Amino acid sequence: MTIEKKYETVIGLEVHAQLLTSSKMFCSCPTDYLDATPNSVVCPICLGLPGAMPSINKKAVEFVVMTGLALNSNIAEKTQFHRKNYPYPDLMKGYQISQYDIPIASDGWIDIEVEGNKKRIGITRIHLEEDVAKLSHRQDSKGQDYSLVDVNRSGIPLMETVSEPDIRSPEEARQYLIQLRAILQYLGVSTGNMEDGSFRCDANISIRPEGSSEFFTRVEIKNMNSLRSVYRALEYETVRQIEVVENGDRVVQETRGWSEERGVTVSQRTKENAHDYRYFPEPDLPPISIELAWQERVKEAVPELPSDKRNRFMSEYGLLEYDANILTTSQLTAGFFEEAINQRNTKSDQVQVKAKSIANWMIGDLFGLLNGAGIGIYDSKVSPTLLREFTDMVEVGTIRGPAAKTVLEQMFQTGQKPSQIADEQGLTQIEDDGLLESAVKKVIGDNPQAVQDYLGGKETAIRFLLGQVMKETRGRANPGSVTEFLINHLKGMEG
Ligand code: ADP
Ligand code: ZN
Ligand code: MG
Repeated sequence: MTIEKKYETVIGLEVHAQLLTSSKMFCSCPTDYLDATPNSVVCPICLGLPGAMPSINKKAVEFVVMTGLALNSNIAEKTQFHRKNYPYPDLMKGYQISQYDIPIASDGWIDIEVEGNKKRIGITRIHLEEDVAKLSHRQDSKGQDYSLVDVNRSGIPLMETVSEPDIRSPEEARQYLIQLRAILQYLGVSTGNMEDGSFRCDANISIRPEGSSEFFTRVEIKNMNSLRSVYRALEYETVRQIEVVENGDRVVQETRGWSEERGVTVSQRTKENAHDYRYFPEPDLPPISIELAWQERVKEAVPELPSDKRNRFMSEYGLLEYDANILTTSQLTAGFFEEAINQRNTKSDQVQVKAKSIANWMIGDLFGLLNGAGIGIYDSKVSPTLLREFTDMVEVGTIRGPAAKTVLEQMFQTGQKPSQIADEQGLTQIEDDGLLESAVKKVIGDNPQAVQDYLGGKETAIRFLLGQVMKETRGRANPGSVTEFLINHLKGMEG
């Protein structure tokens, strides 16, 4: 397409992540509000009542410092909160406590990879603020619009991570979000859940002529609650902006909302009525100093991050980069994998062989079963121990091919030991040559046409016969041995 060549997409992402502290940002209300009755998890502070005095949740600051360190950022030695004033019903106080000129962390980066190309995306800033109330817009039976306000979410600690406009495609944006989310999950600072709004993304996007280093007018897109929506919205918006420019018009700076049902972005608010936030330092909170000694302690608590784990999985277990990437996307998955390998009980020269087999069965089959059931890696009946027993059986050839797949499926359903399933259902590999022999004879007798084809020189006909024997033996035969038997028998029929 010529259009793609002529323009380059420029994207910068703002991500809001709710932090996994046990209490809210400036009060002692608990943070588990998702299933709570509306407006039940509130106090004078998060209700924004006059005279209520906030105090700072130290854990939230620690989480942002930890994230900053994990994202290779500079940590401010001194920082403070500001009031961001705007009149909107989701704000109880008429202002949000946020950060302005000195964020807790700045100038970091995340490495991403798209189609084998590695790329570094700059992180401008990471700051701390409070979440706002949740509005539900409804319509009554007469068609009258009305809105409900749930204040439970007000005051949940919210960490905002702002990227540099370094992202160049919807796919790069998706990868950036996947990486960022994985890091936050590894750190244990956020669930990273987009569907329930714990991890939210606003996307800024502009286009420019290919080769230009200028930045053009950007549009900010909101309301996307899955990676797929972010991707679709950015794709849609790229095309829309190119059309605007190709029609001789100019892109206007505005906020647009993504409509999931219609698959389009819709203008919400233009620059003309943009807010003047009148930021000023929050008078009710003291400035924060982040001492180096404390930073060091926080740094020590940073666990192995996804990219380090991926590299280790490649060097230690000999995994392909692709597989290592998949297994380290979630810390739980990586943990399950390493538990299954169970290094203590594996001879060192066996570790890589075991690891590869476990990785293959996890990625190839187990993930499919988990997705089908819509459950997580540790929520199925297949424990790391069972998976290990299973791959050991495959390795020595007790079960194989389609029969092995059946054993895994049964294990997934029942949680029984693979040896028990294989024995009870007769799924172990046929070791008995007599049995093989009779299966081969039967298939040769039942398929005269394929036999004739083979004898007539069509060698591929043997694959059909092999398939029939495998079917006959319910996948329990060793294809190598079967092929040998077939060839011998067919040879005997020649001439
Ligand atoms: P605001 O508060 O106005 O949204 P921020 O500085 O918080 O501003 O965020 C701006 C975001 O927009 C950043 O992620 C930045 O990378 C991105 N951005 C800035 N200029 C452009 C541009 N021309 N095209 C696309 N994204 C941009
Ligand atoms: Zn409260
Ligand atoms: Mg913005």
